[in-house]
Amino acid sequence: MKAEIVSIGTEILLGEILDTNARFIASRLPALGIDLYWTSQVGDNHGRLAELLRRAWGRSDLILCTGGLGPTEDDVTREAISDVVGEEPRVDAVQEEILRRFFAGRGIVMPERNLKQAWLTPSTRPIPNPRGTAPGWWVEKDGRILLAMPGPPAEMTRMWEEEVEPRLRGRSTGAVIVSRTIKTVGIGEGSVDEMIGDLLHTDNPSIGVYARADGIHVRVTAKAPATRQAESLIAPVEAELRRILSSAIWGIDDETLESSIGGLLLERGLSLATMESCTGGLLASTITDVSGSSLYFRGSIVSYATEVKEQFGVNPAIVETYGVISAETARAMAGAVRRTLHADVGVGITGVAGPTTQEDKPPGTVHIACDAGRGEPAVMSYTMAQGREAVKRRAVTNALFLIRRALLAAPTG
Ligand code: ATP
Ligand code: MG
Repeated sequence: MKAEIVSIGTEILLGEILDTNARFIASRLPALGIDLYWTSQVGDNHGRLAELLRRAWGRSDLILCTGGLGPTEDDVTREAISDVVGEEPRVDAVQEEILRRFFAGRGIVMPERNLKQAWLTPSTRPIPNPRGTAPGWWVEKDGRILLAMPGPPAEMTRMWEEEVEPRLRGRSTGAVIVSRTIKTVGIGEGSVDEMIGDLLHTDNPSIGVYARADGIHVRVTAKAPATRQAESLIAPVEAELRRILSSAIWGIDDETLESSIGGLLLERGLSLATMESCTGGLLASTITDVSGSSLYFRGSIVSYATEVKEQFGVNPAIVETYGVISAETARAMAGAVRRTLHADVGVGITGVAGPTTQEDKPPGTVHIACDAGRGEPAVMSYTMAQGREAVKRRAVTNALFLIRRALLAAPTG
């Protein structure tokens, strides 16, 4: 089944918002055995949208649109689809009733312009949308399927999960593609390549090696008539990779560094606190992206000013001797926050986010320390000139790796 995605909206075309709908849908198609051939973006323009849909209708079996189902003048998706399939849209009595009830439930009289959200054409079935006013459109004609889903991601993803995917699952006869990603740290891309050598030459499953911000990812991808068969093709290769890469593996599939560290802290019964300078709290924010982090995360001190570092326990003599941007100050910050916030593990980050130099240290200079309370704190120092945001993000990733290393090295608490 040949599919294409059409993202509708001038904001998307102009890059004002990211096309996360297309990314979401694209990521769901391989497992359904649907081949994606094209993705396009088009503004809220009736003529250009109709032109694009006409081309899609001529070349694809399945067209997946999002956006432009609102009630306003520039929501033209229904009009353009009707043009392409050559049908007249009409108000559907059942949909009108649902729409009026939706408004009544909120104590508002429905504006008449919303009535077009109750339109259907003879080849169109409505797709329920309890999160919004507009139903989706499931248009089926001449062996082709065209779906129109709302633009707001919360409405679209629910519609996809609950309504669309279950129906498409039975339709596609193609082979499904399933993959598993093994995430590693501490070995370079080239070394991983060498270590897994022979496995790289198989073609089902196939193996790809990718360098990412959070280490080297090895992805195993299998194609088979059904999910279970694809999984059994992956299983022996995954077992072999786990044997070869063993302790370098920190996570699988959607697992993140912050969630894997959360797991280690819980397992060991340890708590964590951070003192951040150049990352401005981004490490704490990332750690608390994990639900349940309150079980191990004590808090963070964003000690941007030197006096604040000292106020919360950093020895002024250390700053005086080595400078604020130094491994010694990072170490002192880690120890200070451990004590101040009564945590088992303390982390300190100091550095120059840029673009100007500080204490004669170039932008991108970062020192991170992790104090687990036993022996010398682990320290990581580097200079990597990038934009401010990238410097901050990289410091957070490296801090998470350092915490992981310290936790694995330390005896359980
Ligand atoms: P509404 O009834 O809210 O107008 P709609 O179906 O007409 O819904 P749009 O007007 O196209 O949808 O988009 C509404 C909002 O949904 C956009 O402002 C944007 O925030 C979000 N959105 C739309 N399309 C996408 C997309 N492809 N990726 C991510 N977000 C999107
Ligand atoms: Mg709209």
